Amino acid sequence: MTAVDDTLNQLITLSQHLGDPANDYVILGEGNTSARADDQSFWVKASGAALRSSSRDSFVRVRFDPVLEMLNGPELSDEEIRRRLAAAKADPAEPGHPSVETAFHAACLQLPGVRFIGHTHPTAVNMLTCSNAFEAMVQGRLFPDHVVMCGPASVLVPYTDPGLPLARAICQQVQAFVDTHGEAPKTIFLQNHGLIVLGATAQQVEKITAMTVKAARILHGTFAFGGPRFMSAGAVERIHTRPDEHYRQQVIDTE
Ligand SMILES: [Zn+2]
Repeated sequence: MTAVDDTLNQLITLSQHLGDPANDYVILGEGNTSARADDQSFWVKASGAALRSSSRDSFVRVRFDPVLEMLNGPELSDEEIRRRLAAAKADPAEPGHPSVETAFHAACLQLPGVRFIGHTHPTAVNMLTCSNAFEAMVQGRLFPDHVVMCGPASVLVPYTDPGLPLARAICQQVQAFVDTHGEAPKTIFLQNHGLIVLGATAQQVEKITAMTVKAARILHGTFAFGGPRFMSAGAVERIHTRPDEHYRQQVIDTE
């Protein structure tokens, strides 16, 4: 099996797991996933495909350059975006149309260490992204493993029209995060929309998504007992930088 086939197989498995109804991360055609195929191209979910029943036909291979050009260029009509996305397919004869969210996948797959992306709409997470307390709730860290798996902080994106405008807003907030923290984020929360997880491997994306949803559920529960008591900034920094936690993160990543 070639490395590219292996990547696609891992992406299919990741997508099926993220789409498992037992997880309550997505229903119907919600969510999308992607993986870097090589320096020139990536796989992204085709429009309309359901994550839970992902197969080889659920993904289209798309070239980075035309999508990144679109992202950095002028405003485009919906029809023009659709036409350009179709033209960006590595093999124009291949069936399937790249998801409308292809642009943010292309941009985030450029970040150092990011090879797989999972975008979902978990009910537990959207209880927070759709709330008045969105910013305060998703930025806090609740317990050490939350920091180990999800990093010291998250990217927050105010509500933006899906498609190119959303991709541009995501790029802006991600760049601000990289400038502040000196590393790529692991979790991006979209107001009134959902979650994006960035990972070096398919397993990482799955585990970070699971830990984010667990933290969201714990957060909901804290309101029965007076509300959340987030870890202090000092405690978060300590966990994020201590050597034995790095070791533990490696262990978690390879389990
Ligand atoms: Zn979405």
